[in-house]
Amino acid sequence: MRTIPAQTVIDKVAEMCISANRELPEDVMASFRKGQEEEENPAAKEVFRQLIENAEMSKDTGLPLCQDCGLAVFFVEMGEEARVEGMGIRQAINEGMVKGYQEGYLRKSSCDPFTRKNTGDNGPAIIHFDLVPGDKIKIWMMAKGGGSENMSRVMMFPPAAGWKGLREFIINRVAEAGPNPCPPILVGVGIGGNFELAAINSKKALLRELDDKHADPEVAKLEEEVLAAINKLNVGPMGLGGKNTCLAVKIAVAPCHLASLPLAVNIQCHSARHKEVVL
Ligand code: SF4
Repeated sequence: MRTIPAQTVIDKVAEMCISANRELPEDVMASFRKGQEEEENPAAKEVFRQLIENAEMSKDTGLPLCQDCGLAVFFVEMGEEARVEGMGIRQAINEGMVKGYQEGYLRKSSCDPFTRKNTGDNGPAIIHFDLVPGDKIKIWMMAKGGGSENMSRVMMFPPAAGWKGLREFIINRVAEAGPNPCPPILVGVGIGGNFELAAINSKKALLRELDDKHADPEVAKLEEEVLAAINKLNVGPMGLGGKNTCLAVKIAVAPCHLASLPLAVNIQCHSARHKEVVL
């Protein structure tokens, strides 16, 4: 059994929260540069220029990429032969998140759903655990803003809906969302599983590299097909029209009940902030 001090988890999580909110992943930056080149609509070109400038300023000044620093979502792969010493891993991740949001001057967006009173520390962190073989702990942190999350949906289809029904729902969802999720967006799709698994898978799918290909060539084809259809909608960057409504579609598939065909569509805004660490 390998032991990792809780303080290491706290410090690493705090660092991830701060750096995720100040620095976009390189694949997202590359997609902005590509979008700027591709767009013919001057307004769309200008949006990409501003997104690049905003990201560079954030990196240089340490100011957050967006005023909405998001709810902090974590995916954890916990090695069966690893343990955290000093406190439970859930508590350590939460303490690290609180420290990061405090020390990084990041906006705390978490509130009571009824009174709307701010919890004051952006907590509790939303954490999804998977047990995996080995003695390492891998943690992904994602800062998920409210605007794009509000445009996301879970839908329980009858099996007869088939791919045609799912495809139509995903594309209509993006069309109806329009400028609200701050496009250009990423679309995470969970197909199969059950109600909650589809939603979790749709969000986890957003952690894939933008230009990677799904391991199953049939699913990779569906991702390309939906991406092309979304980009014909002409929503464009910030809803001003253009070729780049969506930068990538990522689909996760899981077996489901005979009677159901679950679908989750998780929309991610252009501020696709995430980091990962292996302890
Ligand atoms: S949707 Fe994204 S870019 Fe838009 S305000 Fe929210 S976090 Fe910021």
